[in-house]
Amino acid sequence: MNAPQQVRGACPHDCPDTCSLVTTVVDGVATRVQGNPAHRPTDGVLCAKVSRYAERTYHPGRVLRPLRRVGPKGSGRFEAVSWDEALQDIASRLSAIAARDPQAILPYSYCGTMGWVQGDGMASRFFHRLGASLLDRTICSVAGSAAMVHTLGAKVGMKVEFFAEAKLILIWGSNSITSNLHFWRLAQEAKRRGARLVCIDPRRTETAEKCHEHLQILPGTDAALALALMHELVRNDWLDHDYIARHTLGWEALRERALRWSPERAAATCGIDAQRIRELARDYGTLRPAAIRLNYGMQRVHGGGNAARAVACLPALVGAWRDRAGGVLLSSSGWATLDRAAVQRPDLLAGRTPRSINMVTIGDDLQRPASPAFGPRVEAVVVYNSNPVAVAPESAQVVRGFAREDLFTVVLEHFRTDTADYADYVLPATTQLEHWDLHTAYGHTDVLLNRPAIAPLGEARPNSQIFRDLAARMGFADACFADSDEAICRQACAGRVDFDELLQNGFAPLPVPDAPFAEGRFPTPSGRCEFFSAALARQGLDGLPDHVPNHEAFGSSPRYPLAMISPPARNFLNSTFVNVDALRAIEGEPLLEIHPQDAQARGIEDGTPVRVFNDRGEYHCKAQVCERARPGVVNGLGVWWRKLGMAGTNVNQLTSQRLTDLGGGPVFYDCLVDVQPA
Ligand code: SF4
Repeated sequence: MNAPQQVRGACPHDCPDTCSLVTTVVDGVATRVQGNPAHRPTDGVLCAKVSRYAERTYHPGRVLRPLRRVGPKGSGRFEAVSWDEALQDIASRLSAIAARDPQAILPYSYCGTMGWVQGDGMASRFFHRLGASLLDRTICSVAGSAAMVHTLGAKVGMKVEFFAEAKLILIWGSNSITSNLHFWRLAQEAKRRGARLVCIDPRRTETAEKCHEHLQILPGTDAALALALMHELVRNDWLDHDYIARHTLGWEALRERALRWSPERAAATCGIDAQRIRELARDYGTLRPAAIRLNYGMQRVHGGGNAARAVACLPALVGAWRDRAGGVLLSSSGWATLDRAAVQRPDLLAGRTPRSINMVTIGDDLQRPASPAFGPRVEAVVVYNSNPVAVAPESAQVVRGFAREDLFTVVLEHFRTDTADYADYVLPATTQLEHWDLHTAYGHTDVLLNRPAIAPLGEARPNSQIFRDLAARMGFADACFADSDEAICRQACAGRVDFDELLQNGFAPLPVPDAPFAEGRFPTPSGRCEFFSAALARQGLDGLPDHVPNHEAFGSSPRYPLAMISPPARNFLNSTFVNVDALRAIEGEPLLEIHPQDAQARGIEDGTPVRVFNDRGEYHCKAQVCERARPGVVNGLGVWWRKLGMAGTNVNQLTSQRLTDLGGGPVFYDCLVDVQPA
């Protein structure tokens, strides 16, 4: 046995923490994946999910050879074929479609890996060169991202490490213990130093339980709460007038709007007590420094963009940005200005402007006929880094779309997911331990390099190589298709990040100021924090943030009296890890949390199998009667693979394809249902 080697990498998952990994390799086998103690944000600790990354990599269910469908779509029946056979057939079928109209080919991908190379690196080059439809990658964060851009100027905010110095932390729409573990460690440190922690969340999460205070508001009412906080800041003059005058835009108009939101009015909207809003406003107006950790759950409703904008206005009102431990953080990804164009090569479009399809409405769009407004019918879908049959809203429509016999579907995957079952070809992709990649983060401000720790298993190939191979078969002779993965990493970093430092340490910090907006200088058109956004007004939208009620507002339907949110189950990350037996064993079965009052009214006991339903479909799971759910709201924990859930369903049977106010994002948490014993 050779001496164990340690290889530095980066966690590829859709999580703000972007941990630095150290993989121990013995004789070519990865034996352990651990957190890198030298990387400050990781601090030597990984979450329980990725601690099992070696188990996931060597999972007996890995797809390790190209597969071709032999059964009906959805049956999951395949035969193994050679790479040559698979690539040749895929290339010739895509070429035939492209000869008619390349826009009839749709790439479908998201953050199955966050890497710049295996995500949308070589893939974007390929689809740009082809002239395929563009995908509007909206399914997670777009409403909140638009909110930050239109308020602060970019997806930027305070540096995460300074939360440890705050005296008040609002954890807004985030179950940090589950989905932002390393921030939670900093919040705990602040708590030990005397900080007050307040959680704002419709669910009594593990995080909410450990905060001093929990405001369990109704889903989609965050903007009403933020406006009422502003109301109280004005009434009590807990304002930083100097900061407002010098560094904000639109205060008079926002002030007037906020004064319409008394705590009583907001309390009635949010379903909480007005006194608790007054007390929170007092804390926010008087405790210094005050920091807000906003996360994406709260923006998955109709008014999600407005709500995130309303929250993002708060720090400027009290001058919180003056202190490095004050402000707000939704995403830090805007600090990472690596060279995206060098990686994705939009110039390969060569003047063409393909249509763009919103990934949220894939269910309807796969079934749409050709029309002047829509363009050609979608004839082929190439799915990578995503599992839309499980994660896209309104599953019944998504399944119907992918079940089309005349749709040619190629899926690059590690496993036979719900989506892979509908593929004509499943191509075996490498995991993070088997390839190069480059990562930026949205929860800290370091860049990380992922080196391969082991050789690809079986016949698996990196996504980048699969698109390189397809490009070659389709006759794309452009030199960029010969770039190696390491070369693409270097191109992204050129002139911006020291690549030698990445090779040496595995990570490199970006030069971000400690208190970026202490003196204003927001990257907005006005250089100020824009309470009023002229850019939004020009689009015919409200230039000021406001409360925008849910599409399916609580209390608006006698048939569906319960609001449902679908936060992630603790041991899954979106739909990733559902097939890792050890993690699924902890989760047990798909659960619906329901308040004792709502359960009793329906004859439901703890552990009762239930059907949750609305006009879009029904979802089968088990009831967990508990106070994690507030009265009137049920929590359907996701995202189970349909075939590993109950009755072949998951929670997205019930969610809708409607969109958010800003950015065209999904409204997973804007969903009315009712529940019965099954
Ligand atoms: S999922 Fe998040 S917390 Fe877990 S290892 Fe990856 S980056 Fe770290």
